[in-house]
Amino acid sequence: MTSGQHFLQIPGPSPVPERIQRAIDRQVIDHRGPEFQKLGHEVLESIKPLFGTTGPVIIYPASGTGAWEAAIVNTLSPGDHVLMAETGQFATLWQKLASRWGIEVDFIPGDWRHGVDAAAIETRLAEDKAHKITAVMVVHNETSTGCLSDIAAVRKAIDSAKHPAMLMVDTISSLGSTPVTRDAWNADVIVSGSQKGLMLPPGLSFTAVSDRAIAASKTNTLPRSYWDWQEMIAFNAKGFFPYTPASTLLYGLKEAIAMLNEEGLENVFARHLRLAAACRAAVKGWGLDVLCVDPKVYSPILTGILMPAGHDADNFRKVALENFNISYGAGLGKVAGKVFRIGHLGDCNELTLMAALCATEMSLKLAGVPHKAGGVAAAMTSFTDGNEKQRLSA
Ligand SMILES: *Cc1c(COP(=O)(O)O)cnc(C)c1O
Repeated sequence: MTSGQHFLQIPGPSPVPERIQRAIDRQVIDHRGPEFQKLGHEVLESIKPLFGTTGPVIIYPASGTGAWEAAIVNTLSPGDHVLMAETGQFATLWQKLASRWGIEVDFIPGDWRHGVDAAAIETRLAEDKAHKITAVMVVHNETSTGCLSDIAAVRKAIDSAKHPAMLMVDTISSLGSTPVTRDAWNADVIVSGSQKGLMLPPGLSFTAVSDRAIAASKTNTLPRSYWDWQEMIAFNAKGFFPYTPASTLLYGLKEAIAMLNEEGLENVFARHLRLAAACRAAVKGWGLDVLCVDPKVYSPILTGILMPAGHDADNFRKVALENFNISYGAGLGKVAGKVFRIGHLGDCNELTLMAALCATEMSLKLAGVPHKAGGVAAAMTSFTDGNEKQRLSA
């Protein structure tokens, strides 16, 4: 074992702050009793502002993938058509999940270096004169690439095409790190998870639903039991759950929401932008390429970094782990071995990121990856010399 802390710089699960660890570390309680009821009401209500909604947010004891499946089985019927965009590995996995349920997916191809192309969505919807497409399903922050799609633009595309499709959004890695606004986006389903921006351990997933999505769940025909929204919503109204909730994680959730509110959501979002800009400054300083090529959709949550041709990203990550006790995100799917990802989300500040960037610069050297020195210095300059505007556009 090495001394000192492990640097968990993957883009989720993100490190769990001590306050949340303490909040979770307790005896379990009767999940049908008054103490739980108070907690249930509290978390079900206080999570709504994080989703920018006044409507219900369903909480499952499940990873984010569970909420993905719940979104499909509660709103769609076999043979329904949906429109999705190939932003990266997570969009691809959600598309596969939908296909397995017998949903016909029109998957708009992408190069894994851009966000969702809202114009392409508008074109597809405009062509769909018969309104066969039931839903548009997109990933907000594509964690496999580091591109943050413009969901308001997707909403606008649906409206411009005068198409009745529902809008479903995966905010699993964006919630709590960058604005998510169900009501303003007029999104019908927003799914999320606990182990990224919310700084919790894995094990909870969330679904914010619109009245329209709830109405759809009353007539759609895909089967479900565990994932059924109606049961959940009925029990949640009384502060309870239809089956055993992850009560200790819910104590953690209460603490996480308190921490985010104490810092102030605007400050939390600004911190993520600052860290992301410094990380990109470092990448530029090393003479390497950020995977995302559209500055308008640079992710505040993580940065994907392309390895120079002929150099293996997984070998680089191994060298970093063995020498400096740090974990980066691996390249996933199509970009496996070609990319590594630095997470700067959740319980991360300037010095956490600087340590990670120091490890990166040293590991590039040790792994024999061609680069320029000076990435770390560029990140420091980004923190000291940038005003807010420069930071946003760096
Ligand atoms: C992490 C992640 C998922 C998968 O969530 P699990 O909790 O691993 O099931 C899906 N989509 C995005 C965008 C993610 O970041």
